[in-house]
Amino acid sequence: MERPSPRALYPELCEFSPVGCLTITESGIILGANRMAAALLRASSDALMDRPLLDFIVSEDEEVYRAHVARLLETGAPQSCELRIATEEHDSFWAGLKSIVLDASDGSGKRIRTVLSDVSQRRQVEETLRAHEAQLGNAMTIAKLGYWEYDFDEDLFTFNDHFYDIFRTTAEAVGGYKMTPEDYANRFIHPDDRCLVPQEMKNAIEATDPGFSRTLEHRILFADGEVGHIAVRFFIVKDEHGRTIKTYGANQDITDRKRAEEALRQARDELEQRVEERTEELVTVNARLRDEIAERQRSEERERQLQSNLAHVDRLTTVGEMASGLAHELNQPLGAIVLRAEGLIHRFHDQGELPNELLLESLAFLADQAHRSGDLVRRMRQFAKRAEPQRTILCLADVIAEVVGLLENAIHDAGITLRVDVAPSLPPVFADKILLQQVLVNLMRNAVEAMETTLVGQRRLDVRARTNGEMLEVSVRDTGCGIPVEKAGCPDDLFGTFFSTKIEGMGMGLSIGRSIIDSHGGRIWATPNPEQGTTFTFTVPSAAQKQKR
Ligand code: ADP
Repeated sequence: MERPSPRALYPELCEFSPVGCLTITESGIILGANRMAAALLRASSDALMDRPLLDFIVSEDEEVYRAHVARLLETGAPQSCELRIATEEHDSFWAGLKSIVLDASDGSGKRIRTVLSDVSQRRQVEETLRAHEAQLGNAMTIAKLGYWEYDFDEDLFTFNDHFYDIFRTTAEAVGGYKMTPEDYANRFIHPDDRCLVPQEMKNAIEATDPGFSRTLEHRILFADGEVGHIAVRFFIVKDEHGRTIKTYGANQDITDRKRAEEALRQARDELEQRVEERTEELVTVNARLRDEIAERQRSEERERQLQSNLAHVDRLTTVGEMASGLAHELNQPLGAIVLRAEGLIHRFHDQGELPNELLLESLAFLADQAHRSGDLVRRMRQFAKRAEPQRTILCLADVIAEVVGLLENAIHDAGITLRVDVAPSLPPVFADKILLQQVLVNLMRNAVEAMETTLVGQRRLDVRARTNGEMLEVSVRDTGCGIPVEKAGCPDDLFGTFFSTKIEGMGMGLSIGRSIIDSHGGRIWATPNPEQGTTFTFTVPSAAQKQKR
């Protein structure tokens, strides 16, 4: 018994179906169309009758339809395809066709039943989706992002191709797109950072914030073994019960950036080092410059001092010359006084005149004082006359006596007690008398000046001379102010040129003294006295010793 078709059984069902239904001949002529089919083709059911379905198919897709029908007839199995339908109202839409083939009930050949639906919207969605996927792919390619997902139930990572690109390998080379966390870590994460990644993941999972995301940077191993760096940004997905179901993230190769940062850091370190070195150099150069400037200032000062000293020396020389001239001039009247006084005394004696005792005494005193003045004047003259060194055999005691004679008035006036202690029978020295006197005068004059601040009763000046081995040693000891503090550590510096603590001082006396003593083969030095004042000592070789040399 022939079974009635569903259409025959449920004609309304077919008529009001939400999809279009068409009955078509093998050659594609429409024999029947339900309401929806007519609506889709924008024509009435009647108007569709006996029209070839190809009239409603966009010409570019006709071939699709022909192939669809050919397959259907050839296989007899249901077929489906999608093509564009051009409606009677000249618009078009994408239609999905699902067809089966039946034998005609009247034996007039094959019949094709086709279900027609508008799939434009679905295709549109699919197209948009494809476009989005393409965009996402492009974005990932451009950003060089490697995508991954981790499924907690499967305990597997899934990666995309870019992921493998980053590690300079391919899915094929490592056995597919899925990998266990251990495999992933051993293969791609630097050994020192392997514990870092699970820890970060654990922190992220434990976080209560559902949209929790985290970025971390760690070292990786490229497939070729080289070490690189990646930045990983990942998200945790939880279900409605707060159970973590998935983690997904994107990896970015930051090796170049890290290397650039490292290079930058090194460059900065080097720069800082260079700046430090340069600063040190500058400080040294600065200090040197400062020293040079100070030295120049000192030498300018010395030059200025020298010039003023020279002027002073000039004046002194003039004064010396004047003194010498004056002494010469004074010699005559003094000589005349002596002559006249002595003449008178002789006359009194010769003529047997009774001399007045007082007159005789006065005349003798006059002659004596005139003699003494003459002596002084002569010595002054000798001293002031600065001649070439003239060494002779000298008795040191005489030299000392002459200097003492020259200064004793000044010493006395200054309230100083003078003691001269010359050892008996000192051997003679071979020296320039005037120069030796000059040394002594200067030492004694300094001593007098050093005692200006000493209490009057305590002012004592001791001049001693004695032998010390082959040398003769002369010391001048005072109870004065002592060696100036700035030279206390090194009294020898007192003998440098131009050191003076006196307002009018030239600072040349000791320096000249030292050159004189040096030139005689002796030595001169200063020693602070244990109780008060200073002792200046110089040595000169005895004449016998000098000859040996
Ligand atoms: P001047 O007497 O012109 O200063 P000197 O070369 O003779 O030059 O002496 C240099 C300095 O040495 C003196 O200014 C003084 O400070 C110090 N000096 C010299 N003799 C004595 C002394 N007997 N006691 C203390 N200081 C002295």
